[in-house]
Amino acid sequence: MKVLIRGAGVAGLTLAHELATRGAEVTVVEKRRQIAGNASWHAGGMLAPWCERESAEEAVLSLGRDAADWWNAALPGHIMRNGTLVVAPARDAAELDRFGRRTSAFRQIDAEAVTELEPDLEGRFGRALFFAREAHLDPRKVLLGLKEKLVQMGVRFEFGFGAVQAPGSPGIEVDCTGMADTRPGLRGVRGEMLILRTTEVSLARPVRLLHPRIPVYVIPRSGNLFMVGATMIENDATRPITTRSVMELLNAAYALHPAFGEAELVETGVGVRPAFADNLPRVERDGNTIRINGLYRHGFLLAPAIARQAAGLILGHETKKELADETHR
Ligand SMILES: Cc1cc2nc3c(=O)[nH]c(=O)nc-3n(C[C@H](O)[C@H](O)[C@H](O)COP(=O)(O)OP(=O)(O)OC[C@H]3O[C@@H](n4cnc5c(N)ncnc54)[C@H](O)[C@@H]3O)c2cc1C
Repeated sequence: MKVLIRGAGVAGLTLAHELATRGAEVTVVEKRRQIAGNASWHAGGMLAPWCERESAEEAVLSLGRDAADWWNAALPGHIMRNGTLVVAPARDAAELDRFGRRTSAFRQIDAEAVTELEPDLEGRFGRALFFAREAHLDPRKVLLGLKEKLVQMGVRFEFGFGAVQAPGSPGIEVDCTGMADTRPGLRGVRGEMLILRTTEVSLARPVRLLHPRIPVYVIPRSGNLFMVGATMIENDATRPITTRSVMELLNAAYALHPAFGEAELVETGVGVRPAFADNLPRVERDGNTIRINGLYRHGFLLAPAIARQAAGLILGHETKKELADETHR
C-alpha cells in the first residue's frame, strides 16, 4: 500500500516507521528544508507517563507506559532508562506531597538517596520522589536517527515548499502537520525552553523542580548540555522567548544547582504544542485521509502508541471505534 505522510515531526516519523516495518510504501513530505525547528525539535524528550499523570488523563499513562520499549526497539542505544527525580525547594516542600498524591510508581527518598542518584545534588534537597521506571531521550538525535533509518528502509523524503505543493498520491494520505492543521478545536500551547552548557554539573536523569506557579525540569544531554523547560502558555505565538521566561527558567536551573549560574546559555527556543480541548491525541479517518494530531505535551511519549493505532487503521486491522476506545481507555 502507498502512503503519503505530510509532516516530519515525531507524529509523522513514528508513523512512517510503523508503516515501513509492516511493508507499506511510504513517502514523507516536510514543509521545512530539513528536520529541525518544529515542536518536536524543541521537546525535552521525557518519557514520563507516571509523572505526567499529575496533570494528565489516565489514557496518557496507559498509552505511554510502553513508549520507552518502542523507542529502544526502533533506535537501540538512544533511550536512557534512569528514571525521573522530583524535588522541591524547602519552602515548597508541600508541592512534593501534592505531586505524590496525584501520581504513582515512585519511591519517597531521603537526602542520602538523592546523593546516591545524583551526587552533584548532595545536601541540596532533604527529600525527593524517584520514578524509577521512567526514561528519556534526546529528541534531536532521535528525529535525525529515525529519518536516517527510514531512508535505509526505503522511505522517500521530500523537503521544502515545492515538495508540499506537489499533488497527493492516489493512496492514503496522512496529515501529521501539527499546528499547520487548521481544524477547529486544535489550539496551540506555547513552550519556551533553554539549552545551557556547563562542565560544573553532572546529572544522570531529568530532574523536575516543583513550584506552585512554574514547575520546571532540567534534562541532561550529551556534550555537557542541559535542556531547561518549559513554559506552558495558552497561545500559538512563535515569536522569540520573552525575557520573563528566560529569567524564570534560569532561576529554576539556578535553584537546582548554583553552578548553572556560570553556565553558557547556548540556545533559547520556542515550540508550539498542538492540543485538543481534552489534551488527548486523536487519529481520525475521512475516506483516504487520516489525521493524527493533538499530541500536546506528550509527543515522544504517545507517538509510538498512536502510530501503532494509525498503522492498524491504515492497513485495515482496526476499526475506527476500536481506535477511539483505545485512545480513551
Ligand atoms: C518545549 C517543549 C517541551 C516538550 N517536552 C516534551 C517531552 O519531554 N516529552 C514529550 O513526549 N513531549 C514533549 N513535548 C511535546 C512534543 O514536542 C509535541 O507533542 C510534538 O512535537 C508534536 O509533534 P507533531 O509531529 O504533531 O508536530 P511537529 O513536531 O510540529 O511536526 C509537524 C511538522 O509538520 C510540518 N508541516 C506543517 N505543514 C506542512 C505541510 N503542509 N506539508 C508538510 N509538512 C508540513 C512542520 O514543518 C513540522 O515539521 C514538548 C513540546 C515543547 C514545545
